[in-house]
Amino acid sequence: MQANTQSEPVNFPAIADIAPKIALLKNTFASGKTKPLAWRVEQLKQIKKMVLEQQDNIFAAMQQDLGRCNMESWTAELGGVITEADHAIKHLKKWAKPRKVSTPIVAQPGKSYMLPEPLGTILIIGAWNYPLLLVLSPLIAAISAGNNALIKPSELSPNVSKLVAEMVAQYLDNEAFAVVEGAVEETTELLKHQFDHIIYTGGDVVGKIVMRAAAEFLTPVTLELGGKSPCIVDSSTDLDVTASRIAWSKWMNAGQTCVAPDYILVEEAFAPKLIEAIKNKITEFYSDDAAKSQDYGRIVNERHLARIVSYLEDQNVVHGGKHDAANKFIEPTLVLNPAIDSPLMQQEIFGPILPIVTVKNIEQSIPFVNERAKPLALYVFTKNSDFEQQVLNSTSAGMVCVNDGFMFAANPNLPFGGVGNSGTGAYHGKIGFDNFSHLKTVMKRSFMFDVPLRYPPFTDKKFKLLKKMI
Ligand code: NAD
Repeated sequence: MQANTQSEPVNFPAIADIAPKIALLKNTFASGKTKPLAWRVEQLKQIKKMVLEQQDNIFAAMQQDLGRCNMESWTAELGGVITEADHAIKHLKKWAKPRKVSTPIVAQPGKSYMLPEPLGTILIIGAWNYPLLLVLSPLIAAISAGNNALIKPSELSPNVSKLVAEMVAQYLDNEAFAVVEGAVEETTELLKHQFDHIIYTGGDVVGKIVMRAAAEFLTPVTLELGGKSPCIVDSSTDLDVTASRIAWSKWMNAGQTCVAPDYILVEEAFAPKLIEAIKNKITEFYSDDAAKSQDYGRIVNERHLARIVSYLEDQNVVHGGKHDAANKFIEPTLVLNPAIDSPLMQQEIFGPILPIVTVKNIEQSIPFVNERAKPLALYVFTKNSDFEQQVLNSTSAGMVCVNDGFMFAANPNLPFGGVGNSGTGAYHGKIGFDNFSHLKTVMKRSFMFDVPLRYPPFTDKKFKLLKKMI
């Protein structure tokens, strides 16, 4: 795999150009153009067409930004966008229908329903690690619900950012969608404007900045954040398959995945077998020298490389540990029993180091998880269904996968999102549609007859009758 090359400087817009772009989008939404289902479906089909027709350019941009191979990019990003678009196109009509509910006796004769209505113009702020998916997947949800959107891709993946701006201009309705490329200054400017919803993907520090800015306008937010996602491995598990699935989900994109297993919790007695099995998978997947593997990605930039490498100071490295800063390469690395107060166990790793923390018995992994911030994802590998239920019932996490890595992300019927510190709100499929809709309460009363019970003047008789009804 080639090291990611230094990218051309991104052509950020003049700050003064941002307000007119937002004004155009708001006018378009106000015109009602984005509401008809036919328009939504057409835009969704265009997204699919865009990804398919531009796939070679997308692969190249991802190679440049993340040194990532095409198959991983397809699995994690292009394929995900196409699945989400197809799913939305197929189910949109049903999602957008009025949702009837029953009406109590006090409101009879009458009908009650929820009418999904779009929110307006959505601001989508993306992160660099899956730079296409993390802007297009929210965009699909926003469009299905009848909104339009302004997209701000991450400046840390500049080649994909530039390509997203070009593709959106070429394939989507230019009155309804715009891309603003940029970094802190441009995003800060965007946040000074009123949007109807903001979806932000990234770290919690900026998440708080976004939430504060949104509070000024009482704008609702979806925060797709990260954190340390634990992976509990019980000794009853299928060792070989477990090792494959952990290695796949940890070292995809060189560990730069929000839902990658951040650390493993395993019984002391079982740890040597698990370590051996994972080591074997690393070699099987990426050969003895991952630096030469076509299938192993690179760290996004020097700053993140230095951050990740610094986590290895004073640690017991039991596999890997080498890096090559010039090529933004860090070996798939295993660390055994790091100090719990070390940065490796205090910060989200977001890189290819996998700490293995041993516990005397596997039940101790539950309080270990519960003593920390609620994770975005939690993994448990076990054949013991009692233990599986124990983990499910006594821990909290945005998403859980039993006996695999982040396969839940491949199912558009499941919400994708965190809880507590790992985020708020969720999207994918119908949950995404609902996230970008207002479920408007509608009650329709009949003029057939009118019971005067609730009207003044009030009498004891009326009051007694009313108490029987409510
Ligand atoms: P990043 O550096 O790309 O930042 C995210 C966005 O915030 C970018 O668009 C950036 O321009 C903007 N930004 C940065 N500083 C800002 C500021 N001061 N004011 C306003 N905007 C600003 O991404 P990151 O934060 O390094 O992303 C990594 C984190 O994202 C990890 O914690 C990871 O777990 C999380 N993540 C979560 C998901 C998810 O779906 N839950 C997906 C990917 C990444």
